[in-house]
Amino acid sequence: MGQMKLKGILLGSALAILGSAQAGTAAELNLYTTREPGLIQPLLDAFTTSTGVKVNTIFLKDGLGERVASEGDRSPADVLMTVDAGVLVDLVDQGLTQSVQSEVLNNTIPAALRDANGHWYALSLRARAVYAAKDIDLTAITYEQLADPAWKGKICIRAGQHPYNITLVGSYIAHYGEEATEKWLTDVKANLARKAGGGDRDVARDIMGGLCEIGVANSYYVGLMRSGAGGPEQVEWANSIKMILPTFENGGTQVNITGAAVARHAPNKEQAVQLLEYLVSDEAQKIYAEANYEYPVNPNAAVDPLIAEYGVLKPDTVELVKGVGFRKAASELAEKVGFDN
Ligand code: FE
Repeated sequence: MGQMKLKGILLGSALAILGSAQAGTAAELNLYTTREPGLIQPLLDAFTTSTGVKVNTIFLKDGLGERVASEGDRSPADVLMTVDAGVLVDLVDQGLTQSVQSEVLNNTIPAALRDANGHWYALSLRARAVYAAKDIDLTAITYEQLADPAWKGKICIRAGQHPYNITLVGSYIAHYGEEATEKWLTDVKANLARKAGGGDRDVARDIMGGLCEIGVANSYYVGLMRSGAGGPEQVEWANSIKMILPTFENGGTQVNITGAAVARHAPNKEQAVQLLEYLVSDEAQKIYAEANYEYPVNPNAAVDPLIAEYGVLKPDTVELVKGVGFRKAASELAEKVGFDN
């Protein structure tokens, strides 16, 4: 069977299922998400319990935008939930979202962490952090200092072209411009202990193995590793490191977000807004932070203890969207300096 045909049948049956669900009398909504269902199911259950609104979830690992675009104005999607600010901005640019006006959302989410026109809202934050060998004398570091020759041969990091690093480099460009960023990237590359690659958790593994002293990786992996969810090996990796929340010299810690938008053709807009408002409530933010070790956007919600001990996150002052706007330039610079070679 051709892939297109298979896709068509799957799409058709999904629409039929959602369509028949909609015909019922009870309030419900359709959530399209790139987040692992296991991470968000407890939240959705709590939402249904507290509001009576049933949530039909469609999990899409890739191609969320393509899927919604192909469904056009018949799309049953109400809420689009993703990881990465870049993806959210792309959804807006593709005309797949709509503006939402909500006092609850505006009062809970800091302005830098939502679209000025209400097209998307951050739900949680992840920091681009530094992992360091536990025994070294280092308690603070800036992103600028990663280029310091004192770190020659001591830094581990995943591929420069990975979205996590592209967003960091984009933020660097937002602060200093392309020329200064090219120099910084060149100098960081000269400090690498090994070829840029692998995953963020491998940074902790390689610090434990003595290959590097410090590395760049996302904050929530420390919680995931320490929790034992990834197996006993990863607990050891995490125990060999400490996490530092780096800052820009003239700003804060570079963050990315998970977030959500109301779909342009949402058949259940009212319920969609209700879900977003629920997701930033004190209760939901606590569940969310505990389930995925991210930082809540709602300042009333606590950070999980496995992450909280590394300090209070102060997100960078440069608007996230500004850094995201430099993604293409960041990717070109990483290519130009041969970061991944
Ligand atoms: Fe990740």
